Amino acid sequence: MTHDDKLKHYIIPNYGRYDVWPVRGEGARVWDRDGKEYLDFAGGVAVCPLGHCHPAVVKAITQQASTLIHVSNWYCIDKQADLAEVLTEKVVRIPGKNFFCNSGAEANEGLLKLARRYGVTVRGVAKPKIITFTNSFHGRTLGAMFATEQKKIWGDFGFTPDELGYIHLPFNDVAALEKTINENADVVAILVEPIQGESGVNAVTPEFLRTAQRLCREKNVLLLLDEVQCSFGRAGEMAGWRAIIPGDEIQPDGVSWAKAIGSGYPLGAFWVRDVALPGKDGKLCDLLGPGSHGTTYGGSPLACAVGLATVNTILDENLCEHANQIGAHVASIARGWQHPLLKEVRQLGLFIGFELEAAKVDAVSNGRPASIFVARKLLDAGMMTVPAGPNVVRWLPPLNITQAEADEGLRIFKSVLDLLS
Ligand SMILES: *Cc1c(COP(=O)(O)O)cnc(C)c1O
Repeated sequence: MTHDDKLKHYIIPNYGRYDVWPVRGEGARVWDRDGKEYLDFAGGVAVCPLGHCHPAVVKAITQQASTLIHVSNWYCIDKQADLAEVLTEKVVRIPGKNFFCNSGAEANEGLLKLARRYGVTVRGVAKPKIITFTNSFHGRTLGAMFATEQKKIWGDFGFTPDELGYIHLPFNDVAALEKTINENADVVAILVEPIQGESGVNAVTPEFLRTAQRLCREKNVLLLLDEVQCSFGRAGEMAGWRAIIPGDEIQPDGVSWAKAIGSGYPLGAFWVRDVALPGKDGKLCDLLGPGSHGTTYGGSPLACAVGLATVNTILDENLCEHANQIGAHVASIARGWQHPLLKEVRQLGLFIGFELEAAKVDAVSNGRPASIFVARKLLDAGMMTVPAGPNVVRWLPPLNITQAEADEGLRIFKSVLDLLS
């Protein structure tokens, strides 16, 4: 059987895959099995902040793999302690503690469990409610998928979000948030992406984030940030929310990570703030005590070694600053085109959403969503990007791309847009 036949026969068809078979990668480039070269500005959906096969990542994997790959969390893991320190001191920069898991959905599950525990044991709420927002994406597990406000993700699975304790509110609607928190004493947490990725690079407004924090403090509600996609330099800051409000004004109670943290090696984590519990002894960061949560794989020596190499390289090579420079260059060139097929360019660091003039693309796309159609054309032209929602093409290139690579991406992108207009 060919690989194509095996894929048809043996792989569950839950993905609408492009018919491209990548077999090798280096930096910002990938080659498929026919030897065709691609400029990879998808990066496995924001998973490869250093590009493919970065020497620091390869070295961390090979060295740790030949030393100790895995031990259980029944024992103490030095690399886990080291990575936790970096996350607290260099990424969040607010006192707190970390838990390691394997993916973004799992990291969010941890925060959701923390919020429910907090609701039941600290706030005395029997059925805690958690607020999430329109067009959010929090992952595919039973908790995270109902937190996700997208019916295509949670529909036909036998629950409603309400039954599982979620309230979905309009993103960036300050009045709706204020009203809901004031009228609903069972709300124990807000979970929000500072920059929504899957919906097309849409940032929270500073006003919304400030209001959310104020309401959370007033009502003993936890402010939880899903930073699975927007952190580690993607938006030009180690912590994504600082791309919205710089400095230390925002002090989240919990933060979740995955994607870039492991350069493609499965790793997720969440951080919990070191803060006293309201009206109780103890601290929020110690609420998940023995028996309350766990994982078999999470935080293995190998995963944490890769995480350390990735995060330290981003820090050591000043890739936040570089991402801001190259990202601003890309946005200014693309806006300068004033292209009839481009409605808007949304850019924070190298987190870039190109919103298409959907009606114009739809006229030529044979019924396919504009974003998927254009991403396919880009692939044919030798460039990987990621559709986000129906109308946005997203660029998530390595944070260390050169200006020449960015310019090459711009040339390919413009030539495809020109061809379609
Ligand atoms: C990708 C993503 C997730 C889910 O991560 P998985 O590793 O696929 O479980 C959650 N939240 C956000 C914001 C994401 O972008």
